[in-house]
Amino acid sequence: MRAVCWQGVHKVGIEEVPDARLINPRDAVIKVRKAAICGSDLHLYDGYVPGMMRGDILGHEFMGEVVETGSGVPNLSPGDRVVVPFPISCGNCFFCSQEMYSLCENSNPNARLAEKFWGHSPCGIFGYSHLLGGYAGGQAEYVRVPFADVGPMKIPDAMSDEQALFLSDILPTGYMAAENCNIQEGDTVAVWGCGPVGLFAIMSAKLLGAARVIAIDRFPERLSLAHRAGAEILNYEEMDTLETLREWTGGRGPDACIDAVGMEAHMHGVQHAYDKVKQALRLETERPGVVREAIQACRNGGTVSVPGVYGGLADKIPLGAVVNKALTIKSGQTHVQRYMKPLMGRIENGEIDPTMIITHRIGMDDVPDAYQMFRDKEDDCIKVVVNL
Ligand code: NAD
Ligand code: ZN
Ligand code: ZN
Repeated sequence: MRAVCWQGVHKVGIEEVPDARLINPRDAVIKVRKAAICGSDLHLYDGYVPGMMRGDILGHEFMGEVVETGSGVPNLSPGDRVVVPFPISCGNCFFCSQEMYSLCENSNPNARLAEKFWGHSPCGIFGYSHLLGGYAGGQAEYVRVPFADVGPMKIPDAMSDEQALFLSDILPTGYMAAENCNIQEGDTVAVWGCGPVGLFAIMSAKLLGAARVIAIDRFPERLSLAHRAGAEILNYEEMDTLETLREWTGGRGPDACIDAVGMEAHMHGVQHAYDKVKQALRLETERPGVVREAIQACRNGGTVSVPGVYGGLADKIPLGAVVNKALTIKSGQTHVQRYMKPLMGRIENGEIDPTMIITHRIGMDDVPDAYQMFRDKEDDCIKVVVNL
């Protein structure tokens, strides 16, 4: 079968690989119909995540048709159309039984290694390095889905492939980020990053009752989509983020702040400074990491929610401010399985249209170029969907 493979930093290619097949009774094999490229895939593309090997199949956002099931998957049959959550979760362990699926203790065979490296051990994730289990990803013609009796959700006939696709990750991720803000009536929520995760966080914050949402980014097309989703917009190239947020919230700061950027801010912040050649080597032109800015901006007693992915110990977190401002910080890889059903309901009743963020629909051969385009936010790219 053909698959999108990691071939090194900034190198992605299409390769002929062995067919996906059942290994355990609780496995299913899915013929992928649509997959997407995620901001998290860019961390692999940029080489920030250790444990990638040449030839690893990428992709953790996908949906498709069941073609084969093991004896332990009575809930699925060949021909079922399903969307698959990115965390691989057993459904039975301490964490799964409390609906904290992304912390599953049984799905990452390399957890001990990950613990040594990072000091923590997340669940297994499709197409996301050997430290997260070494599972083949879904940017491929077929994919093996472990614990298929727990993860995949059937898609109703009336729902299109594209409407269901983002239930695999970014819609639940934006929603959990907003839910983590414990939004109260009248609250103002600021969202850093108007990529797919930020945009769904904005829509979710509105659904959860935020009176105002302020969206921060520098790309006009992303900011304008944020505006369409109901946010006030703040272009951080044109306005000082901290000063403006303070001004727009009566001097107090937003009640909750969402970092929907992650480690990109450090890297692109520096890159961006280099783009402005004259200032390039002056330390003060580097933008602070978004999580730091969010902590600084947040009102006393407020909440900072961090769906953005960080991969190391180098992020500068002003813990003093967290303590003295009595902030709550909430984060996590998303417990996708917890949110799929209720969010499917919100798509069905028209409260959310997840397809509004799609800017590019491509075939597999165009995926390598699309990684670069999405990384550099060229051609007004917001979300790429791959038709397989
Ligand atoms: P994306 O690359 O499309 O969007 C990131 C956005 O952040 C861009 O629009 C960029 O312009 C903006 N940005 C960069 N620096 C900024 C700054 N200093 N201030 C404000 N905005 C800034 O990515 P995405 O797909 O939306 O993903 C966003 C983050 O969410 C990534 O870190 C990704 O890994 C993470 N993520 C986490 C989970 C989870 O389970 N927690 C799931 C999916 C994605
Ligand atoms: Zn993702
Ligand atoms: Zn589990």
